[in-house]
Order: sequence, then C-alpha cells, then structure tokens
Amino acid sequence: MWQYDAPLRDMRYVIEDLLGLPAQWAAMPRFAELDADTARQVLDEAARFATEVLAPTNAAGDTEGCTWRDGEVRTPRGYREAYRAFVDGGWPALACDPEVGGQGLPAVLNAALYEMLAAANHAWSMYSGLLHGAYECLHRHGSPELKERYLGPIVRGEWLSTMCLTEAHSGSDLGLLKTRAEPQADGSYRLRGTKIFISGGDHDLTDNLVHLVLARLPDAPAGTKGLSLFLAPKILPDGTRNAVRCDGIEKKMGIKGSATCVMGFDGATGWRVGEPNRGLAAMFAMMNSARVQVALQGLAHADNAHRNALRYACERLQSLAPGAEGAAPHAIVHHPAMRRILMRQRVLVEAGRVMAYEAAALIDRADHATDADDRRLAHERAALLTPVLKAFLTDNGFALASEALQVFGGHGYVHEWGVEQCVRDSRIAMIYEGTNEIQAIDLLVRKVMADGGAAFDALLDAVEASVPAPARHRAAAADAVSRLRRATRALLDAARGDPELPYRVAGEFLRATGLVLVVQAWARAEAVSAAPAAAGDAFHLAKCEAARHCMDYVRPELGLALAMLDAGRAPLAPVRSFEPA
Ligand SMILES: Cc1cc2nc3c(=O)[nH]c(=O)nc-3n(C[C@H](O)[C@H](O)[C@H](O)COP(=O)(O)OP(=O)(O)OC[C@H]3O[C@@H](n4cnc5c(N)ncnc54)[C@H](O)[C@@H]3O)c2cc1C
Repeated sequence: MWQYDAPLRDMRYVIEDLLGLPAQWAAMPRFAELDADTARQVLDEAARFATEVLAPTNAAGDTEGCTWRDGEVRTPRGYREAYRAFVDGGWPALACDPEVGGQGLPAVLNAALYEMLAAANHAWSMYSGLLHGAYECLHRHGSPELKERYLGPIVRGEWLSTMCLTEAHSGSDLGLLKTRAEPQADGSYRLRGTKIFISGGDHDLTDNLVHLVLARLPDAPAGTKGLSLFLAPKILPDGTRNAVRCDGIEKKMGIKGSATCVMGFDGATGWRVGEPNRGLAAMFAMMNSARVQVALQGLAHADNAHRNALRYACERLQSLAPGAEGAAPHAIVHHPAMRRILMRQRVLVEAGRVMAYEAAALIDRADHATDADDRRLAHERAALLTPVLKAFLTDNGFALASEALQVFGGHGYVHEWGVEQCVRDSRIAMIYEGTNEIQAIDLLVRKVMADGGAAFDALLDAVEASVPAPARHRAAAADAVSRLRRATRALLDAARGDPELPYRVAGEFLRATGLVLVVQAWARAEAVSAAPAAAGDAFHLAKCEAARHCMDYVRPELGLALAMLDAGRAPLAPVRSFEPA
C-alpha cells in the first residue's frame, strides 16, 4: 500500500556531501552556530512529523475533501490536529527572522521540510505553505504598524494567509484585474471585487486569516502597472468580522483537502502593503517563495511515486525476466522495461533535489552572505533558476507519477493503491503560481534575453566549473553546457529577425536548461561517490550507477530538447477552427 518514507539519507547526501552547505553556513553570521548534526536533528524531527502525523491524513482527506456551508469551510478529519502539532512543533517559524520570533534556520532546511510535507500530504501543505510567502512579503514591504500587528501571529502559525490574485477573467494576465480599492479618511481602504481559485480562502485551522489582495486604486493606470497590494484580515483588529466572504469551494481533480475558494470582497477593510501601483513588486516576494515551494511539490510527488513504485516492483511477480536469476515468475523490477522507468525516475528525482536545495542555498546566500557582491550574484542566480525549478520539477512530478502508475499496472489505476491520487494531486503544480508556459517565457524573454544572455552565460560558467577536474563524467557535463550555450546564442541571434521565435520555443529552452542541470548534478554526484563506491559502499555505488544511467539514457533527452528548439525556427501554423458542415 501507499506509504511515505522520508528520504533522509538522500537529503543529507545533497546538503552535506554534494553541496557542502555546513561550510557555507559557517561563513554566514546568521547560521554560524548551525552545524551538520543540528541540521540532521531538524530533518529527523521534520520526517517524524511528516510520516507519523501528516501522512496518515492523506488518503482519507482525498476521499472526504473539504465541505462548505454558509460561508465556512471545514477541512477533512485530522487536518486540524495535524496543524496544531505543526504549530506546537515550531515548524512555521523555521526559517523566519529571530527578531520577529522565528528560528532563523536556513531556507534550505525549510525546503527539505516542505518537500516532506508535500510528499506526505500535498493538500494539507497548501495551508501552511502560503505562510512563509506572506511573512516574506510583509517583512520586506509592510508598514511598521502592519508588521507589528500581523507578523508575529503569522510567524507563530496562529493565523494563516492567502494570496488573492486570480479573477474569473484574469488568470495569467494579471493586468486585467478589476478588484477596486477606495481610500478612506483613516488611511485604510475598502476593497470590492471577486477573486476565484483562492487556496485556503477559508478554513477551520486558524481563527483568523490574513488575505493579501491585489486591487486597483481609483486613479490607477491600466495593466499590471496599476496594481496595488492590500492586507485584509478575516477578523478585524476590533474583533469584528471583515466584509470578506467565502462564496463557495471548487470540486476538483486533486488536492481535495485543500479548499479552493471563491472570495467576495464587499467593501472589506484593508491596508496597503508597499507603494501605490507597485503591488506586483511587493507580491513577487510572496510569489517567488511560493514558486520554489511549488517546485518542491513536484519533487515530492516524483520522489514518493518512485519509492512506492520501486517497493511494488520488488514484490510483484510476473513472467520470466531476461537474465534474472531463480525460477520465474520474477519480480517485475527485473524486467528491463521497468528498470528503465525506475532508473529514469531516480535520476530525475535526485537531480531535482540537488537543483532545489542549491537554489534554496542561493536564497540563503542572497539574504545573509557577508559580501555585497556575493549577495547580489546569489540573488541574480536564484531569480534565473526559479522558473526553471518551478516548471521542470513540476513537469517531472506529474510525468514521473504517471510512470509510477504504469509500474503498478491495472492496480495503479484503481483507487486503493494510492498512486492515482499522486497523479491527480501532482497535476495542479504545473498550473498554479504561473503556468509552466508562463515560467518558460519568464526565463527566456524576461530574464535570459533581457541582458543579451550575459547572466545566463555566467550561470553556465558556474555550472561547468562546479564539476571537479578528475570527475569521470566531466567531459559529458561540459559538452552538455556548451551545446546549450551554442543553442542559446543561435536563438538570441535568430530572435532579432523573428520576434515570435522565443515565445514558440521557450518551453524547449527551459527543458534543455533543466536537463543540463540534471547532467551536471550527476557528474558532481559521481565525483563525490566514486571513492566510497570503489571501497564497497553500497549507497555510493548506487549513486555511481545512477550517474552512469543519467549519462547513457537521460542525457540524450537534451539532444531531443535542442532539436525541438531548432525546429521551432519554422513558422508555426495558425490553429484554424471550422464550423461543422
Ligand atoms: C487548485 C488551484 C489553486 C489555486 N490557488 C490560487 C491562489 O491561492 N491564489 C490565486 O490568486 N490563484 C490561484 N489559482 C489560480 C491559478 O494561479 C491560475 O489558474 C493560473 O494562474 C492560470 O490562470 P487561468 O486558470 O485563468 O488560465 P489562463 O490564464 O486562461 O491560461 C490558459 C492557458 O493559456 C496559456 N496562456 C495564457 N497566457 C499565455 C501567454 N501569455 N503565453 C503563453 N501561454 C499562455 C496558459 O499557460 C494556459 O495553458 C489556483 C488555481 C487552482 C486550479
């Protein structure tokens, strides 16, 4: 049956052996007292919470779902108790500033925590998941009064938050938002409008909720340059109910324990966060944090799907497997077709973890490195990597969950084995927080092309340099980098005469970038594991075998992505629709 075992050994491998993060922490005053042992204890405790408290609520929450009645949402059984345990354990405050009651631990440990939470119960993790983004947003852009009133309860997890962007006519295109904010004499605003698809818009986990709402001031310019950000609580400071209603929840494909709400703001009282008409910039503090979190959901689903598929493949006996020992029927894990699926999963999952934790470590450096240039560079790199992580890891999350279902055969298609829930739950991550198409355009058009490819080129330099000289797969990694570099230059040249080109090939460009990072991650892993593997260490031997599988079987996918990128130079036919005769 479906179960969650936290991949602690693999997490430590990435944090300690591959990325050497304890040395990085030692160089930053904020984390100077954190050592590898303490970090291990944090991960062990987080794993205990995820496996013992949260995972048991996952399947039941999927069956039961949320209920809405008279404007109030009830979460599935067990969610409230799990949330109480989460707060009592101090988990909301893990990576928040100690000055506002946080524990001041690195973002990378928070990333590992959220990977575990999403794997144990994605739907539940949606409620707590928005907390950190709201903290970032208020911490950076809130007025002293708003910080004073709201930061503490958010950091302690007493109040949860939402991100209210989407409206029925305005999804990817936030410039179309219509919700209005009228200034009041006392400095507050009255918000009027309807938001849809708001995760955790109402629920019974906390008494109060802090809605962060994008809206327009009366004299605001059209488009995204006319959006301002407001904080509107469910319960006002005087204890009365604000004019914010939950008008219903969606019936949906997956994450059924997460309430996806229609929210009506009917003259609700709010206060501005950040400058007028600069709401999107303030919201980006929240959205970037949320995007990394969504990337971790993709990783979490892929990892959990892989582990469950592997366990099943070791137990399920079918037919004679070529080359397998003992009498048939053999466990399906011996069939080459299944081995290919399982090994490809392992390669993409573990490289995805390297990518995600490295990006989280960059966020730590961007915030806490002592050298200003280092902080600026780390910030630039994290910004470039965020769309790659979000789209590449969530595409993989859904694709690898679907491949896991294939390993289960017909048993995977029926509810009781749990993998079909994983397929359904993982699908949304490709859509929310900016669809994966929007992420690809963000990467190529807004980030890579914005400076003629300079920052991306520097990123590729760093990727190439990260594989140590004697590494067995160094040449393969260098070749992958130089192919992407050539393709990027050719693309930027061709785009000068064909402005639509980047929009046609952005998805392939992002996929190619993700695959280069996968090759790099495994070249580094092989360099770290080669010596202990040669000495007979089974864990490290498995890493070397996976590295070889990456080079032989997954690296060729880069060729396909680059060929597709090239194919995108051809004009794209218009899609015509015909009335039936
Ligand atoms: C379960 C769930 C939870 C959600 N939670 C929240 C939340 O908490 N807060 C919130 O504000 N929103 C939330 N959303 C909304 C989500 O962020 C939007 O659904 C998403 O941004 C896409 O908007 P849309 O659905 O209107 O699709 P559209 O924008 O209509 O897009 C439809 C398709 O067209 C493509 N497309 C659109 N524009 C472009 C373009 N310029 N270039 C290329 N392709 C394009 C998209 O990629 C997509 O494939 C949630 C949605 C769901 C389903």
